[in-house]
Amino acid sequence: MSQAITINRPNFSAVNPASVEQQLDTLLSEYQSVIDRVAKLENPSWDTLVRPLEEAGNKLSLFWSPVSHLNSVMNTDKLREAYNNSLPKLSAFYTAMGQNSDLYEATLRLRNSDEYNQLNAAQQKGLNNDIRDFELGGVSLSDENKKRYGEVAQALSKLKTEHSDNVLDATNAWEKLIENEAELAGLPESAKAAAKQRASEKDMQGWLFNLEFPVYYAVLMFAENAALREEIYTAYNTRASDKGPHAGQFDNSTNATEILKLRAEKAQLLGYDNYAQLSIVPKMVDSPEQVIDFLNDLAKRAVPEAKREFAELEAFAKKELGLTSVNTWDVAFVSDKLKQKQYAISDEDLKPYFPASKAIPGMFEVVGKLFGLNIAQVNDVDVYHEDVQCYAITDNNGDLRGEFYLDNYARPHKRGGAWMDSHSSRQQVEQGVQLPIAYLTCNLTPPVGDEPALLTHMEVTTLFHEFGHGLHHMLTRIDTAGVSGISGVEWDAVELPSQFMENWCWERESLDMISGHYQTGDAIPDELLEKLRAAKNFQSAMQLVRQLEFSLFDMQLHMQATSHSAIDINQILDDVREQVAVLPYPEFVRLQHAFSHIFSGGYSAGYFSYKWAEVLSADAFSRFEEEGIFNQQAGKDFLTHVLEMGGSRRAMESFVAFRGREPKVDALLRHSGLAA
Ligand SMILES: [Zn+2]
Repeated sequence: MSQAITINRPNFSAVNPASVEQQLDTLLSEYQSVIDRVAKLENPSWDTLVRPLEEAGNKLSLFWSPVSHLNSVMNTDKLREAYNNSLPKLSAFYTAMGQNSDLYEATLRLRNSDEYNQLNAAQQKGLNNDIRDFELGGVSLSDENKKRYGEVAQALSKLKTEHSDNVLDATNAWEKLIENEAELAGLPESAKAAAKQRASEKDMQGWLFNLEFPVYYAVLMFAENAALREEIYTAYNTRASDKGPHAGQFDNSTNATEILKLRAEKAQLLGYDNYAQLSIVPKMVDSPEQVIDFLNDLAKRAVPEAKREFAELEAFAKKELGLTSVNTWDVAFVSDKLKQKQYAISDEDLKPYFPASKAIPGMFEVVGKLFGLNIAQVNDVDVYHEDVQCYAITDNNGDLRGEFYLDNYARPHKRGGAWMDSHSSRQQVEQGVQLPIAYLTCNLTPPVGDEPALLTHMEVTTLFHEFGHGLHHMLTRIDTAGVSGISGVEWDAVELPSQFMENWCWERESLDMISGHYQTGDAIPDELLEKLRAAKNFQSAMQLVRQLEFSLFDMQLHMQATSHSAIDINQILDDVREQVAVLPYPEFVRLQHAFSHIFSGGYSAGYFSYKWAEVLSADAFSRFEEEGIFNQQAGKDFLTHVLEMGGSRRAMESFVAFRGREPKVDALLRHSGLAA
């Protein structure tokens, strides 16, 4: 079977901020007329209903993705303005499409037609996802309930904004000027310099501190002055609450309970008992109870070890630092000292072994060996900056699978962090099969002068992580837009390939492929590698129980909240802490009031996803531990059962096909230094 392939590379040079909005308007109105036309079809078929929508969607994203990408990596005032003006148009368009009941009815007619049984599994899955998403958006409710659903959605959106505004305002409201440098003992010079500049910008003498996370974190970790640590800890952990320096002023107590009530009502309108049930519908897990069991099981194993770690910390604090007790505001400070003593390893020790010129081609070699691929640079393509390179991935049959644009280094007007984004997805288009193209963006430390760019081990791990997302996007064999690559993959399974790839940054055989001293070419010494691996698990049980605390709290809130009465949020958190926490939280702590992930972000009844995906990735990698990290059959199986399948079937099916059984937590526990 050979199909014509087509590749639609981004045309960065053609992006013109002055015409972006107008071009977008044109594309949206073309898309809208396709929707209007196909929604009326009496007897819709895949080719008359879905294909035209896919084509219109593809046209829109081929236009929009370079605009959005450039806005992130080559930001200018003009482009930002065009981008910001376009966003509301796009979101209004997609909201209206999701609530278009004619389109929903047409999709249902296709789902119930004879043709449905002739569609392939990916097409069926895509269609069913669409119907599910329409229904979760309230499209099929009675008129009365639809009206109420709309009111609830609007109220929720307002409350979520208020919640995050309160957190932001509370964060901004607190600052502290320190005039005596002696009080800053222990802080790194960089943190002090930043504090001094902050003060001088406000015409103050001294060092100014605020509650921005890096500032807060530096004080907690490094300031020798315990009273200062306590003060900033108290301010930070009472933000937007009824306690602390701004008690009651930006208080989220009421709107948090209102948010929970309205979510419960939304779930009820859609026929679910509680919001947690609704939240897990598009996820990999089957029920809230399964999530609770999963978290409880981890807790049972991790809590004793976390208690031991905390006792060790207390003993160290007493013996070496003369502290009679370890308060919550001392934990980061004491932990850092203990870590230094136990491992004596710093980022700087490893950097000479990771020149980018070795790490990046080495990563391609690792991936090539693992999955039978060849990755080669493509010349003479349109790029937006000299740092950017385009690569093509070809498999062992000589088939081109996809391309990616690698943009490695930090520079001005480029958004921070690292991410993978799609330019185009694998899907059927008029000319045949369109191949996927990814943007891989990092902010690595750029080369200085004649020295090559030397990467930290963390930066190399980040590269592998993002490349894992990229491989998931590019190696798919599915031709249906909604479920190819990472599209349609359950939220709690998306991080499987990315976290999975990180493992090749910790093994001698693969490390030797991605590292080598930039002056001598020497391999990383055994002793250094051992230290690196040992430090990886420092306090891993304490970190794990903290994640469990957040995850259990989030689930319990959304399982217990009802639409008719306010829930006691603080009591629920106290109960969860009783079960899993090892830190001696003071009564005034109100971290829950600023827990934006679940109140204003997208993680409501979903915070567990972080841990869930880690179980999957650790367990998937354990097969390579058993069979060899470059075992060809294991590599091929991961490629065909996970990466190539995309969202065309449930993530659990893909996992079982690869691993031969359902996931187990043993590997994660072992990797975290906890006995299984
Ligand atoms: Zn990720």
